[in-house]
Amino acid sequence: MAGRRYDQGRVKEYWQHVWDREDVYEFDDDTEDPTYVLGMFPYTSGNLHMGHVRNYTITDAYARYRRMQGEEVLTPMGWDAFGLPAENAAYERRTDPRAWTQLCIDRMREGMESLGFGYDWSREIRTCDAEYYRWNQYFFREFYEAGLVEYEAATVNWCPDCETVLADAQVVEVSDADPHDGDPFDGTEVCWRCETPVDRRELDQWFFTITDYAEELLDGLDDLEGWPESVREIQRNWIGKQEGARVAFDVEHAGDGVDEVDVFTTRLDTIAGATYLAVSPEHDLAGALAQSHEDVAAFIEAATAEADDDDAAARSTTSPRRSSWNPRRMTVTPGTGTTPTRASRSRSPTKEC
Ligand SMILES: [Zn+2]
Repeated sequence: MAGRRYDQGRVKEYWQHVWDREDVYEFDDDTEDPTYVLGMFPYTSGNLHMGHVRNYTITDAYARYRRMQGEEVLTPMGWDAFGLPAENAAYERRTDPRAWTQLCIDRMREGMESLGFGYDWSREIRTCDAEYYRWNQYFFREFYEAGLVEYEAATVNWCPDCETVLADAQVVEVSDADPHDGDPFDGTEVCWRCETPVDRRELDQWFFTITDYAEELLDGLDDLEGWPESVREIQRNWIGKQEGARVAFDVEHAGDGVDEVDVFTTRLDTIAGATYLAVSPEHDLAGALAQSHEDVAAFIEAATAEADDDDAAARSTTSPRRSSWNPRRMTVTPGTGTTPTRASRSRSPTKEC
């Protein structure tokens, strides 16, 4: 081979052409006992980045390994292309969401093809196709008819930039190398997609009552073979089951028909030591008290204004960081918005009642 240089570009192109011509990655529906390897469907941002390359190289190497062991392997690819992020991206560019999404898909597929990943492109999925999302609608209807979805108001994580609700798992904390340097920005909660500080909002929402299955999900984790304990623990925390008690406290003179307030506690045994209740500014009781107590009304207004200021600050800067402390984020107990507290331990901006 002396004198002949290895031209990886030409070799790559040649073999990718051969794979394509021979349909080597097309998968036969009649295959018995197939192996299914799915990386994940990327969001259609329009550009492949090194994170994609790492992700899909790992799954591709694994699929090839299984093929080389003589197995029939199905490796599909598709696009997570539905919803507000795609619409917002199109809006920013003053273009049609469908055209924009399609352009992004074409660009990303081209990148994947040039990397030589062994996908069966005849099975490509786009979640924005009616042919695909009609199944989402079908499932939603099934859940609805089975009584497993509810519509109610709740405080949610809101990204002001994406203009969308975020699941808890989509909210990440800003942190840096030194957690003890007193940097006031550390711990700021930001959107995983665009790093804009996350706001809390009261919105009417559909909820899947997965809590009905918490016990079953937890039990199922014990049966998972070969899963690291750390991953199982993450799953347990995500399910978030807490055992405790709901306790009703009588409230006098609150007004507006509020005569009792529900509290959730995991430590019922310490309830006798509670000296006051901390109530979030959006709690019904706070609203009722505000009608007859000017100081309460002023506090709620200040808390709300501070949250609004935070929003404005967040919008006016490209930095994902902000320092101000937001009292609307205090006070958390599952589903009640109250917490029983002992005075000596409390540093919350609370109102006694
Ligand atoms: Zn965002």
